[in-house]
Amino acid sequence: MGVPYIKRMVYINKDTNLDGIIIKGVGGAYTILASNGKQYVCSPRGIFRNKNTTPLIGDSVTISVTDEIKQIGTLHTIKPRKNELRRPPVANIDQVIITVATAQPAFNAGLLDRFLVLVAYENIPVLICVNKSDITKTDSSFAPYIMAGYPLVYTSATTNEGLNSLRTHMAGKINVFAGPSGVGKSSLINALSPKLTLVTGELSTKLGRGKHTTRHSEIFPLSADDPTMGYCVDTPGFTSLEIETIPKNELSSLFPEFEPYTGECRFNNCLHIKEKDCAVKEQVGKTVHPMRYESYVKMVESTPNYRS
Ligand code: GDP
Ligand code: ZN
Repeated sequence: MGVPYIKRMVYINKDTNLDGIIIKGVGGAYTILASNGKQYVCSPRGIFRNKNTTPLIGDSVTISVTDEIKQIGTLHTIKPRKNELRRPPVANIDQVIITVATAQPAFNAGLLDRFLVLVAYENIPVLICVNKSDITKTDSSFAPYIMAGYPLVYTSATTNEGLNSLRTHMAGKINVFAGPSGVGKSSLINALSPKLTLVTGELSTKLGRGKHTTRHSEIFPLSADDPTMGYCVDTPGFTSLEIETIPKNELSSLFPEFEPYTGECRFNNCLHIKEKDCAVKEQVGKTVHPMRYESYVKMVESTPNYRS
């Protein structure tokens, strides 16, 4: 009678195992938003500690529920990550929303270009969010980015202008905001939080606190009752940048508008600066905006590393 017994075991397993994503992790206890829409606080099985794997928010996991009433369970497996950010520590980011302001602080194109390069180096799709559109609209500053093919939205966290368009761009994804400080990332995150999340969890008080408070990041659903609306990390990502680690000769591949031409240069190790018969330079003023090219040259000049 061994076979029916095994069958029964398999059945029990199926019934109690759930898929989900980690939305919060504090002191070794992880909150999982499960595929059934409920949240469970789970502790990892011993195997994680042995393997030195630290679960991250954004991780796609399987859990088993140990107590449905208390909504607690055990974290069993972490699915392979498609990417991982260090600041804040999040896995499986679908989109980084690089936020800049039209003014206050003044728009700095070189800085935006460096953010774009860093995110491209991590292989994560990007959305440019131009906030404080209530102060001024400086469309000409952003034309080079539209020309380069970046998706871009104008928003105001003060008047809520553009928030619906921003939500559309965030739908179905795990999003994280990044960008210089003072541009309105926290204000946008606050404006996007559904009321339900704000009045219940600790999130509301936490979000209201000053920026200098160190705390754990959490992921909140953009709609309390519609998971297809996507998720957002409640802590803005990196605000400062180190591009020195990116090899000089890999920078051009991180400018999407250069990409179609990089293979057409005379020299296959062309840096697109001083070389003869450079197909990228040929495009400057045509499909490549001169300001973007200028940013690229500055980056190459300030980057010491070269990968052969
Ligand atoms: P963060 O450092 O990027 O998180 O920026 P904050 O969200 O802390 O915002 C910095 C300042 O800009 C605050 O005084 C906000 O009230 C203000 N602010 C944020 N968004 C907007 C906006 O859309 N329009 C205007 N006029 N001010 C904004
Ligand atoms: Zn070239």
